[in-house]
Amino acid sequence: METLVKLSLSELEDFVESLGEKRFRAKQLFSWIYSKSADCFDKMTDIKKDFRDKLSLHSVILDTKIKKKQVSSDGTIKYLIEFADGNCAETVLMRFDNRANLSACVSSQVGCFMGCDFCATAKRGFVRNLEPYEIISQILTIQQDTGLKVTNVVFMGQGEPLNNYENVFSAIKSINENLNIGIRRITISTCGIADKIKKMCESDFIPTLAISLHCADSNVRKQIMPVENKYSLGELKKALIYYTEKTGKRVTLEYILIGGLTDTKEMAQKLCEYIYDLKCNINLIPYNPIGVDKYKKPNKKDIMIFKYLLESQGKKVTVRLERGADIDAACGQLAGKV
Ligand code: SAH
Repeated sequence: METLVKLSLSELEDFVESLGEKRFRAKQLFSWIYSKSADCFDKMTDIKKDFRDKLSLHSVILDTKIKKKQVSSDGTIKYLIEFADGNCAETVLMRFDNRANLSACVSSQVGCFMGCDFCATAKRGFVRNLEPYEIISQILTIQQDTGLKVTNVVFMGQGEPLNNYENVFSAIKSINENLNIGIRRITISTCGIADKIKKMCESDFIPTLAISLHCADSNVRKQIMPVENKYSLGELKKALIYYTEKTGKRVTLEYILIGGLTDTKEMAQKLCEYIYDLKCNINLIPYNPIGVDKYKKPNKKDIMIFKYLLESQGKKVTVRLERGADIDAACGQLAGKV
């Protein structure tokens, strides 16, 4: 059995030929898979019946399954995707009422080994990297299931994308070329692997960058994010300046507001000092509870004060809308629960 989404166009041509068909048929098939998101061969109406039969006998389009699907009251859909080896990870579709954008939040690994203390994915540990086709399969699953076209992709599901560098960048190339999603509409979110950020800046496809900063005080950041021991805030900053100079783009800084810990005026001051010379936007994320709850949600007043302090530095600040919290699909809540 061949899994067609694993194949490049030229490999698909070889496969089609091995079934005794003309190579050019592969283009047709390719377009059904990627542009029209067909979920079965019978829908491929301009392909003749006996070829479709041969295809169903010898191949599948995807080898993944939707293990569970949950729809939030805000329209967010969370899929638990089961990969061929039985491992599962989430993909989340976010729609924003007032915009035509449909964002797919994809996983790059099953589990994660970065160990951030506030994150549900970290609590499950690291299982394995996802292959490029397994990342593409997540987007195709959404498109097949909803009949809608994904317009933006964010690597903000399970995993640290820069720890699965080769596969993630190979997937990005395919998202861009085969799914026709512009490179500016593809965002990588990382906890701050500074040397990989620099490496990324040398590639031909440089996606939009989001950083899980979460704290601008090194000691407190160490308590909640072990990555700070390896790549300190100082080193991270150098990599971010390099990115903004190289691309001319802003970085997005994601900042979790944890009640009493990272949401204080003192912490806002530290953040202001850290970012004063950095081209960036700030996305404040009120902490989402993950069950163990050593940490607290921030209160509304502290969120507003924090936002105000940053804005008075002339930065653009948004408070992230909590999407899908009723189905545990919000940031940091993805842990492959069945
Ligand atoms: N490993 C990458 C990709 C994960 S993105 C990264 O660190 O950026 C998921 C985002 O949700 C990250 O910004 C992460 O720090 C944040 N997050 C994790 N746990 C959270 C929680 N309990 N509440 C709010 N945001 C959380």
